[in-house]
Amino acid sequence: MVGTAIACGLAPTGLRIAILDRAAPPAFDPNQPPDIRVSALSYASEQILRNIGAWPHISSMRTCPYRRMAVTEKLDIPFSFSGSPLNQTLFNSEDIGYPYLGHIVENNVTQLGLHQTMQQYSNIDFICSREIEYINFQATLPSISLKALPASVKKQNSDIINAKLIIGADGAMSNVREWASIGINSNQYKQQALVATIEYEGHQEDITWQAFTSTGPLAFLPLMDVKNKHYGSLVWYDQPDKIRELMALGNDEFINEVVKNFPSQLPSIIKLLDKGCFTLIKRHAQHYVGNRVALAGDAAHTINPLAGQGVNLGFQDAAALIETISSAHTLGQDIGLRVNLDSYERCRKIENQKMMAVMDVFYHAFSNNHPPLKFLRNIGLGLADKLPFGKKKIIRYAMGLEGNLPKLARPA
Ligand SMILES: Cc1cc2nc3c(=O)[nH]c(=O)nc-3n(C[C@H](O)[C@H](O)[C@H](O)COP(=O)(O)OP(=O)(O)OC[C@H]3O[C@@H](n4cnc5c(N)ncnc54)[C@H](O)[C@@H]3O)c2cc1C
Repeated sequence: MVGTAIACGLAPTGLRIAILDRAAPPAFDPNQPPDIRVSALSYASEQILRNIGAWPHISSMRTCPYRRMAVTEKLDIPFSFSGSPLNQTLFNSEDIGYPYLGHIVENNVTQLGLHQTMQQYSNIDFICSREIEYINFQATLPSISLKALPASVKKQNSDIINAKLIIGADGAMSNVREWASIGINSNQYKQQALVATIEYEGHQEDITWQAFTSTGPLAFLPLMDVKNKHYGSLVWYDQPDKIRELMALGNDEFINEVVKNFPSQLPSIIKLLDKGCFTLIKRHAQHYVGNRVALAGDAAHTINPLAGQGVNLGFQDAAALIETISSAHTLGQDIGLRVNLDSYERCRKIENQKMMAVMDVFYHAFSNNHPPLKFLRNIGLGLADKLPFGKKKIIRYAMGLEGNLPKLARPA
């Protein structure tokens, strides 16, 4: 997602760009049920995707707007008034005059929308049939060696690609980061995440909620209706043993466990479509740039997904990197020199670090059963709901409307 966004944003400069990936995203079928990998895209991410021309493609496939977001702690004793928990903070887009807070979009749909945008540029080459063997950053211009093809296969590209700049947007396990010898600080969380796609009864929801428990949050994200059926994504954070146990359950047993453990606002489940689990690791590259290399998205940082900010930060990296490279190119500077890329690292590293720290505060404050802390955080959740100024500030931060925003993240 992040790499293609950078290519689409840079294409108008006329630079010659190659995108190397393992495969193209699968074709979209409007009748297919939702894919398991979805992301809550913030308002700022939507602006970036709009400004580079991808949002119309994405929204013409399917996206689910969410207008409300609730955060609470699931308590054994109900602590509610007319069905609404007293220890809940409810964010509503109307409070800040916006029609929605963001959209839940399948990752495949975002990728495909970006690929459709990319196809309109003749200066972008998409290479997906060849594996990368190695990138040599020691040469004057780095060279990418592609794995040799069997003699029987007709070659469409040469085995070596030279570039002024290599952008590593190759995800958490980035090879580019390793080949460029950029170090990484990492820390594995004690919790893992199980993600499940369900079909539910009722109507398409416009609320995403997160209920904290001492073993990890339980979250619900609404998805777009398909053929009048309502779908949602559940995220269950827990200790690895518990996640393993849940993964081994049959569909009916799993649904029973969800009903037993999730808060009562979960709509009635009709069917489980799919489930999968993820290890949660915080990673932060020691540098985002070097001579002839830049990292963006998960290759530069991975954070706890509990507030759904990973790819949103990635798109902000993309916007900032597009800005840095475009201005160096316009000034006739060498876009691969570290000195011309430094401003990108300066502006993004600090912003990403801030969001990582916020996620850690949530993770540590809620992942325990310490009575005084439990009392304080529940009072805090109730109070936060009643403080309009603070609440608006938090909504704006989650929507990507606060902080040092790249130009492409602002409405055109
Ligand atoms: C459970 C869970 C829920 C999440 N929910 C949200 C959310 O709600 N909102 C949000 O903003 N974020 C969310 N995230 C985070 C989000 O999924 C990631 O931040 C995002 O996928 C990162 O995008 P990326 O483009 O940087 O990397 P990736 O999506 O990992 O893409 C990397 C690309 O590089 C390619 N690649 C890698 N190695 C090679 C190679 N050697 N050769 C060729 N190609 C290669 C891959 O094929 C892939 O296309 C969530 C994450 C998890 C685990």
